[in-house]
Order: sequence, then structure tokens, then C-alpha cells
Amino acid sequence: MSCIFCSIIAKELPAQIRWEDSQWIVFDDITPKASTHVLLVSKVHVGSLAQATSEHAALLQSAIPTVKIVAATLGLEEAGYKTLINTGRAAGQLVDHLHIHLLSGAIQSSL
Ligand code: 5GP
Ligand code: ZN
Repeated sequence: MSCIFCSIIAKELPAQIRWEDSQWIVFDDITPKASTHVLLVSKVHVGSLAQATSEHAALLQSAIPTVKIVAATLGLEEAGYKTLINTGRAAGQLVDHLHIHLLSGAIQSSL
């Protein structure tokens, strides 16, 4: 299976990594749509939120706390930020690996 985000997690492809723990890795989006645009990517391959099951309960439970930690790490707590999960083609999901966009400052109005 070829997956861009799995290759980044395996350090086979480069990315500007901002934070990581055992469940999530956070790196800059290659085509930023805001002054700050990072992706919180699950370390385990899950195709999308639609493919997540009870097997991924701990992962999903950690998602919002991780958003808060990353926002604080990036110094965005006071300024504020937007989070976004695209699920499936109709939502514009391009990379079929579960990820959360975290954006702040000059966010493109199309998002
Ligand atoms: P989606 O539309 O699937 O929610 O978002 C996928 C995001 O991944 C897009 O914002 C796109 O710019 C980003 N992206 C696609 N390929 C790469 C890559 O190779 N490296 C990084 N860092 N981001 C990527
Ligand atoms: Zn993957």
C-alpha cells in the first residue's frame, strides 16, 4: 500500500515535523492555506474518519486533547485556530489517511 502520510511517518519522505507522540504526528502542510497550517496525522493508517472503528477509540479520544497541546506548542491558544477534518471525496479529502487540519491566521476563505 502506498500512502504519502505513512511514508512521512516512516521518515521515508521529508516533512517539517512540529510535534509527535505515540499516536499522532504533526507536520506542516506542503501547500499551506493559512499563515500556520499543520496536519495532525494518526500514526496508524486509517483511511478516513468514516473508516474508524471501535478499534480506534483511544486514538479518537486523544484527538481533541492533541489539538489543544499542538495549538499551545505553536503558540496559538490566544490568537485562535480552526480545525478541519475532510471525510471522503465530497468533502475534498485528497489524502486517504486520517488527519486533522489546524489552521491559524489569514485562512483561505474557501475553507
Ligand atoms: P485533505 O484534502 O485530504 O483533507 O488534505 C490533504 C492535505 O495534505 C492537503 O492540504 C495537502 O496540501 C497536503 N499534502 C498533500 N501531500 C503532501 C505531502 O507530501 N506533504 C505534506 N506535508 N502535505 C501534503
Ligand atoms: Zn497511511
